[in-house]
Amino acid sequence: MGVFEAIGTEAHEEVLFGADRSSGLRTIIAIHDTSLGPALGGTRFYPYQDEAEALRDVLRLAKGMTLKSAAAGLDLGGGKAVIIGDPAEIWSENLIRSYGRTIDSLGGRYITAEDVGTTVRDMVLISQETPWVSGLPIEDGGSGDPSPATARGVIAAVRAIGERLWGAGNLQGRRVAVQGIGKVGMDLVRRLTDMGAETVVTDPNADAVTFAVETYGSKAVSLDDIYDIECDVFSPCALGATLNASTIPRLRCSAIAGSANNQLAFDGDIELIVDRGILYAPDFIVNAGGVINIAVETDGYSPERAATMVDRIYDNLAAVFDTADRDGVNPQVAALRVAQARIDQAGGRRFRGRSEEQ
Ligand code: NAD
Repeated sequence: MGVFEAIGTEAHEEVLFGADRSSGLRTIIAIHDTSLGPALGGTRFYPYQDEAEALRDVLRLAKGMTLKSAAAGLDLGGGKAVIIGDPAEIWSENLIRSYGRTIDSLGGRYITAEDVGTTVRDMVLISQETPWVSGLPIEDGGSGDPSPATARGVIAAVRAIGERLWGAGNLQGRRVAVQGIGKVGMDLVRRLTDMGAETVVTDPNADAVTFAVETYGSKAVSLDDIYDIECDVFSPCALGATLNASTIPRLRCSAIAGSANNQLAFDGDIELIVDRGILYAPDFIVNAGGVINIAVETDGYSPERAATMVDRIYDNLAAVFDTADRDGVNPQVAALRVAQARIDQAGGRRFRGRSEEQ
């Protein structure tokens, strides 16, 4: 597929290809939609096999950010960037700063943040070249690690599920199976425990499992057994695509809500979930806590304001379920409608960057 064909398929506004011979930088920045505001999305630093793979990934991820921010009620558009290469081999301060200057050339239409392969240290270096960067350390006026905000958002979603399924946002005595107890999953287990819920966990990292068992009284199961656990909520917090034709028939939960991106292996797998009578909370609604936290940073970070905004995931998810009921569609389709409706309300305006601000 040619570049213009790829960009045209999902109507991306703009894609910038940047290269710098002295540092070896090869980057693609995709701005999907700025109807609601500047395009925010992280930078993925990854050894893509070729440029076509990198382009496909950045276009897909940028569109995902448009939907996530729109559905979260943020005045932000969607964008994403990739740097092609293995950070362990080609990372240098020169490369990152050169990348920062590439971002700066977009005049604020794209704001970056951390993603796979980039770190807080990279964001600090980028901030020396451009103001259009977020996810800076708290001591530098930034919002720090977004994971606790993401976990807080998953709790808001589980409360909304509780309200709908058992008539109370109270999680006392409820059982949640958490697949993956990394930065988000472990904080989720802590919060669930504080709220009186019981947790069942799995993770290839044995130290993390021991910690959850000893600290939060979690029950540990094997990586494969997590799908068979009888529970109120199954919470995918590891990798994407764990909900598929072989795992969905095994689930013994009432609802699914977790932080992992792209949980459904195929879009059509939502039908398998619906057919089993399981309530699905769409991932991009549930895991918006991190981007909400970063959005607060873009106009002066306040932890209290961030927490209040993250808690609105409860209302956002309830609105998705209501739309699903009203339109007779599944929650995934309803979530896409909610996001698209907000974008359409903006009337196709485009955020023009710094010149618009002056
Ligand atoms: P992380 O890398 O800290 O944690 C992931 C955990 O999953 C690790 O402990 C890993 O050992 C475990 N894992 C890997 N394979 C597994 C398997 N087969 N079964 C069970 N566990 C497995 O990542 P994180 O920051 O906690 O993010 C978790 C998920 O949430 C990711 O999909 C991420 O894209 C998504 N997400 C995270 C944030 C955030 O703020 N960190 C925001 C939005 C979405």
